Amino acid sequence: MNCHELIDFCFDYIEGALPEPEQVGFRRHLSQCPDCVCFFETYRKTPELTREALATKIPSSVRESIRSFLLARRNG
Ligand SMILES: [Zn+2]
Repeated sequence: MNCHELIDFCFDYIEGALPEPEQVGFRRHLSQCPDCVCFFETYRKTPELTREALATKIPSSVRESIRSFLLARRNG
């Protein structure tokens, strides 16, 4: 799993809707990627309406992925 996939999956993970194999990959990526730990911890604590503000607080390495994720969710 890469950073983009983790961001795509984090909503389902929080909701408990992620299949077990993806959950394993999700946790494995978190154990290896401090940027995604930072994102995920913040995301989990952030109300839906203010999640878009996360894009200003996260490392630039994942910022574009998160922005496209949020746009896709809003449009989908
Ligand atoms: Zn990552």
